[in-house]
Amino acid sequence: MSEYYVCTGCALLCDDIEVDIEGNKVATVHAACRKGVARMKGCSDPMECTVDGEKAEVDTAISKAAEILSDAKNPLIFGHGNSSSEAQKRSIALAKKTGAYIDDTSSFCQGPIVEAILQDKIKTCTLDDVRHKADVIIFWGADPSNSHPRHLSRYSYFPRGKERQRGWEEDRTAITIDVRKSDTAVISGDNRFYQIPMGGDAEFMDALVSALSGKVPKTSYGFDVKRILELSGVLKKAKFGVICVGLGLVYSLEELEPLFKLMNKLNEVSDFNLIPMVGQYNMRGFNHDLFEETGYINRVKFNPETGEAEHGAEQSVVEALRNRSVDAALIIGSDPLSSLPLSVSRYLAEIPLITIDPCQNLTATRSTVTIPCALGGVEAGGTAIRMDGVEIEMKKIVDTDKLSDEEILTRITEAI
Ligand code: SF4
Repeated sequence: MSEYYVCTGCALLCDDIEVDIEGNKVATVHAACRKGVARMKGCSDPMECTVDGEKAEVDTAISKAAEILSDAKNPLIFGHGNSSSEAQKRSIALAKKTGAYIDDTSSFCQGPIVEAILQDKIKTCTLDDVRHKADVIIFWGADPSNSHPRHLSRYSYFPRGKERQRGWEEDRTAITIDVRKSDTAVISGDNRFYQIPMGGDAEFMDALVSALSGKVPKTSYGFDVKRILELSGVLKKAKFGVICVGLGLVYSLEELEPLFKLMNKLNEVSDFNLIPMVGQYNMRGFNHDLFEETGYINRVKFNPETGEAEHGAEQSVVEALRNRSVDAALIIGSDPLSSLPLSVSRYLAEIPLITIDPCQNLTATRSTVTIPCALGGVEAGGTAIRMDGVEIEMKKIVDTDKLSDEEILTRITEAI
């Protein structure tokens, strides 16, 4: 019988992956997309264990990391999107013990959407619901053909489902709303692609709410009224609709109120759900873990005396670095020197930095301590939360002599 594994290439966490193993390495990956194959075959440039730029034993590196975090008054712990939920929980415990700032990439991407879902402000569903029931799927500011390559084929548009037996041509309508004609927009077709100007999403939502309320929809950028009315007609007739929210929409909205209004209106006239197109495989897991511990999904600083969580913009990774409020940082499975604006990330290179990651990256090159860890979902197992909030079990595929990030974080915590 075939053994199936989970791909950790993105937050779709495809669980139908088969592999051929040669010499304790993943040699061939079956069923995954190109992105997944690259992830599961491992790092082309693995990170080495170092202290002060010199090769070191793992025990030495862990002791040095513990010393840096003990000496710091306000350490920062950042990353987490590419770690198992077990490692994330260890990281939260370490942050509590050291009075650290703790944050992840959701702080400047899908965080507000995940928060609204966890606070029951937005109706959501699972990807399995989408596969079996959805007849109208809106990709809003999202291009899964590139970001989550198997989204359309496995869950949303192409597959047959229990209530969608006739397949995509007859049973499903895909709609793309975006500022550019993406590959996903091409699949939706010209008549189902709504091209709006940059920053025009909130107004388009208001116009749709008007159309769904029987009023004339207007936008300051003069979008064709007939097309908005036609779109509202499709949405009204939907038996089970889903909006897949991408970063294009998240970055465009200054506040979520227009999205709440649209979702409420859609659920007066039809049945609509929303799923955030989370990127990193377990970003949502971190949000769930921290929410369970503190009531907040990100941007937390633990009070070193009381262990209480302080939360707000000032506790975000961006503001903490911009204000130079942190005096050491532990980065797990992330490369902030590449991904954050230089004006913010530059300060990281001025403070003691610890990086835990399977692969070499720019942040590692500027770190005082680097500790390589096992690759999640390949060399280490655990659990993760898929983009739709479903917990997925990951099995280890091959053995490694590297510690998992969970084990490294446990040992650092014990050494403090
Ligand atoms: Fe992996 Fe994502 Fe591709 Fe699925 S869509 S195989 S989870 S990278």
